[in-house]
Amino acid sequence: MAVKKIRKIGDPVLREKSKNVGKIDSKLLGLVNDMIDTLNNEGGVGLAAPQIGITRRVIIVNLEGKIQTFINPVIEVLDDKKIESDEGCLSIHSIKGFCVKRFPRVKVKAKDLEGNDITLVAEDLLARIFQHEIDHLNGIMYIDHLDRKSKRELLSKINEIK
Ligand SMILES: [Zn+2]
Repeated sequence: MAVKKIRKIGDPVLREKSKNVGKIDSKLLGLVNDMIDTLNNEGGVGLAAPQIGITRRVIIVNLEGKIQTFINPVIEVLDDKKIESDEGCLSIHSIKGFCVKRFPRVKVKAKDLEGNDITLVAEDLLARIFQHEIDHLNGIMYIDHLDRKSKRELLSKINEIK
């Protein structure tokens, strides 16, 4: 177990499409432990494997103070009227103040660490977190959802940090 370096925007690994997890072996459990240590260290609501440089379809989400693991997660949209809200990302230097449109209600299907099927309905902030983290598995970051003006503004903030 170890705290890993968070990959930041500009790192090509964040733009790769992650591969499905086949069997849940000790290597995968090690990855999940590293992700949990890293999230606890950074303090965030969720983390996707590519954010620590591993392109596998694994995300972890902080559900009411308990970190849960979702393997090969997929989403079904239950309400397609998108809602705009503030979003942040450890890979975009946790910059705040940029709003992203997301579906307010989604069904999430995944496997847990024992290989059991998980199905849950996520709403509002939680629905947003799942969409954000699953985007990472597809090489997408929240900046991609912004209009041109906001994108320019965010890029200039990122450049100030770099
Ligand atoms: Zn993110």
